Formats: sequence, structure tokens, C-alpha cells
Amino acid sequence: GEGLPRPEETRVMVVANQKGGVGKTTSTVNLAASLALHGARVLVVDLDPQGNASTALGIDHHSDVPSIYDVLVDSRPLSEVVQPVKDVEGLFCAPATIDLAGAEIELVSLVARESRLQRALSAYEQPLDYVLIDCPPSLGLLTVNALVAGAEVVIPIQCEYYALEGLGQLLRNVDLVKGHLNPTLHISTILLTMYDGRTRLASQVAEEVRSHFSNEVLRTNIPRSVRISEAPSYGQTVLTYDPGSSGALSYLEAAREIALRGAHPHQEQHSTVEGK
Ligand code: ADP
Ligand code: MG
Repeated sequence: GEGLPRPEETRVMVVANQKGGVGKTTSTVNLAASLALHGARVLVVDLDPQGNASTALGIDHHSDVPSIYDVLVDSRPLSEVVQPVKDVEGLFCAPATIDLAGAEIELVSLVARESRLQRALSAYEQPLDYVLIDCPPSLGLLTVNALVAGAEVVIPIQCEYYALEGLGQLLRNVDLVKGHLNPTLHISTILLTMYDGRTRLASQVAEEVRSHFSNEVLRTNIPRSVRISEAPSYGQTVLTYDPGSSGALSYLEAAREIALRGAHPHQEQHSTVEGK
């Protein structure tokens, strides 16, 4: 991964889609590991009470571990909860514990309830090239905290029926947060996940998504791959679990595209020739 440009400022990317099971967590951890393997310093913020991103990165997150809950609810410095990820240099994780399930309610009565993650990230002094925030499958205060903290929204879309259904609600929320709390917010990246090019449906859905979001959709699709789904049970990303697999290579390529196109895809010249 040598030779990939590193961003001048930290790129904070919010991986969101209020649908569950579309590949948010899988994409967060595998893109983060890929960016780190390309030489970047990357922090994953696990904002889902399920803690799946923490698990997939092999990070201890039982209920006594200092976690993102303490950061959001008790204003604990982020530096006190961040852990290094074994086996991937430059990759770090702020884990989620099950406490976070209560934060959605507890945050309601706190001052600056929408911007607590943004404040914590601003106060974090370690140099970072990327922060990837794994959101829960809802549009509550946790996701709003992510949307206030980040500039870029990354939407994984599973190439199935109803792929675009519900997306309108996410887009409206992004617009609301942009209008009221975070003017820099924009949808920078759409990633097609669990793609099975052999089915007509998948290619039709991919075509439809590309026609709606021609600038945002990455050229690289993530294939459906057993290796990708097995890796988390070993506390690993597919990048270390099976580095030569199609899943690993596709995440490396998607991360390369993200690094190359920078934070502003609309300023990039897009080739009209699809690379597949
Ligand atoms: P979300 O975070 O949006 O709920 P996940 O990333 O947890 O979605 O993915 C949902 C399920 O699909 C998980 O069991 C995961 O292992 C599996 N999965 C995700 N991406 C792939 C893929 N490319 N190939 C095969 N299985 C995948
Ligand atoms: Mg998830």
C-alpha cells in the first residue's frame, strides 16, 4: 500500500444505514484494516451496543472495559478507551460494551447531547488519518452523534430487493444534521456489498444504485464470500484471516479508491469505463 496519499486532515467517515445486516460492521472493520495496511493510522469507533466491530477486531469489550459509553455519557477522554488492534499496525479501536444500549436514553438529558462524540474526537491528540464509525441499525442519538462528528457518510448497500427502500429516511436525516448541526456533512461513498454478479437481481440493483449515485458508488463491489463472514469468529478481519481471498482483495481495492478519491468525490474526474 505504499504510495497511497494520506489525507492532510483526519477523514472522519460514518458508516451508516438504518437497515441491519447490510454489511456496515463488516465494511467498517475491513476498510479500516485495509487503510491501515496501506500505511494509514486508523481508528474504529464502535457505536453499536452489540459490539460486533470490537469482536471482529479481537478487542476485549466485556462490561468492565473502558468503552465509548464512558466517553459519551461520562466525558471520559477517548485516549483512555482506545486499544490497539493486534496484528494490524496503525489500527486502533474504541470498543462498545453492552452499556451503550442505555446511552440512547441517557444522552437525552445531557448537555450537547448530539455533539459528545465530536468533542471527544476533537480532543483526541494522537495523529490519525481516518476515523471509521460503525453505527447501530437505527437513526437515534448514537447515529446522530456520529453524523455530527464526521464529514463523510459511507453507506453500504446490499444488492437485494428493497436495497433502496429506507434509504430516503437516512438521506433526510443526513440533510437535517447538515442543516442544523454539521454543514460539512455529505454522502461521500456508497459501497455495494455481498455482491453476487451471477444473479440478474444483483446486477440490476447495482445498476439502479449507480444511476442514482453515480459519483458516490465505488467501482469495487464486495463479493459475497464465506471467508469474510468467517473472519469475525476468529477475532480477525479478512485481511489477516485470509489475505489472498477475493474478499480481502476487494476490501483492499475499495480502500484504495477511498484513499485516492479523497474526501470530495464530486471534484474527481470519473472514467466512463467500468473496470469490470
Ligand atoms: P450490519 O453491521 O449492517 O448489521 P454486518 O456487517 O454485521 O451487517 O453483516 C451482516 C451479516 O452478513 C454478518 O453475518 C456478516 O458476516 C455477513 N456478511 C457481511 N458481508 C459479507 C460478505 N461480503 N460475504 C458474506 N457474508 C457477509
Ligand atoms: Mg453492525
